[in-house]
Amino acid sequence: MSRVLIIGAGGVGSVVVHKCCQVPEVFSDIMLASRTKAKCDAIAARLPRPIQTARVDADQVDELVALMGEFKPELCINVALPYQDLTIMDACLACGVHYVDTANYEPRDEAKFEYKWQWDYQDRFKQAGLMALLGSGFDPGVTNVFTAWARKHHFDEIHELDIIDCNAGDHGQPFATNFNPEINIREVTAPARHWEGGKWIETPALSTAEEFDFPEGIGPRKIYLMYHEELESLTRHFPGLRKARFWMTFSDNYLRHLEVLQNVGMTSIKPIDYNGQQIVPLQFLKAVLPDPASLGPLTHGRTCIGCLIKGIKDGKEKKYYIYNICDHGKCYEEVGAQAVSYTTGVPAMIGAMLMLTGAWRGAGVFNMEQLDPAPFMEKLNLHGLPWTEVIL
Ligand code: NDP
Repeated sequence: MSRVLIIGAGGVGSVVVHKCCQVPEVFSDIMLASRTKAKCDAIAARLPRPIQTARVDADQVDELVALMGEFKPELCINVALPYQDLTIMDACLACGVHYVDTANYEPRDEAKFEYKWQWDYQDRFKQAGLMALLGSGFDPGVTNVFTAWARKHHFDEIHELDIIDCNAGDHGQPFATNFNPEINIREVTAPARHWEGGKWIETPALSTAEEFDFPEGIGPRKIYLMYHEELESLTRHFPGLRKARFWMTFSDNYLRHLEVLQNVGMTSIKPIDYNGQQIVPLQFLKAVLPDPASLGPLTHGRTCIGCLIKGIKDGKEKKYYIYNICDHGKCYEEVGAQAVSYTTGVPAMIGAMLMLTGAWRGAGVFNMEQLDPAPFMEKLNLHGLPWTEVIL
């Protein structure tokens, strides 16, 4: 029986609150708070049980502290934007609340994401006896747990890790992103970076592509090398990794639109003067693109996200692939959201559940791979994200 505060009423927040409602024995009292209260109320109206809603500007620590003081949550799930991670962590420290998020902190004025800012909270969370769980989405999140599971059960040494994220779904829109457009475009247009031979290697965005044959009838797709935040924590926590890369599929149509938008300056995060007003082109673009939360009924097809791992077991070389396939239509039927929101929201709920039930407990700041993967893997199968492993 626990009180949980969920911050962010977007595509992911809607899934988190639906999934928490399905487990009343853990999440007995739920509050959904966001910048726009009407969005929280619209989500609350679709739920099978009552929850509380509130307006909060999560950039303001004092507003968060006031809300937490009133609602008195045991744990806060942050599914607002990466810009709010530090303010929400500050408020959790001030109010004695455990913390979970799905994306690492990014400063607004620089398209750069790294764990340093949040790892710097280690001593403060430890001293307060509180736990902060970072990156409990799918990637980061499940991919970290898949890697820890593989290391524990299938390998003595892991040498190579390829995280491969495929969205084989189609929403029928000329151009739309499956999660927050501003965060998505910042991520995709950043230079690619991978770990090889003990150092980071940077290459221009979307300049390296290969083909990967996805399982269960999805078939061959072009995958593009990118940088993703779990590479930073995984190379730190599995120092035997010689190579670690992150790949994602994009349709030719998505890439064509993105190239034009970039060429005309619409993806820039540098403010410009427009009729005497400062606007950020990427934020303006977000305002005209479809809201990812609206794509649920339009999206068909499946996602397939997994880890391809090479290493040594019992003195022999081994190659192993572990993945989840998620159907956009089935997610919509269950919680009214497409699979990208679903595959992020379910692990956020599971991470929170494991902390609240004591299966994952600790004081300090944790990445997912630092905790026992077993209870998380079990809950994935029970709560809508079953996984499959293959020895290649
Ligand atoms: P959305 O844009 O749909 O939702 C974000 C929500 O946060 C909106 O409801 C917004 O409110 C709210 N919000 C933004 N700023 C504030 C603020 N200052 N105070 C309070 N609320 C605020 O995004 P998504 O749901 O698609 O993504 C949510 C998070 O999930 C992002 O951080 C994203 O990076 C992460 N993510 C992680 C993935 C993973 O696998 N690990 C995959 C996909 C996403 P309003 O609408 O009123 O502006």
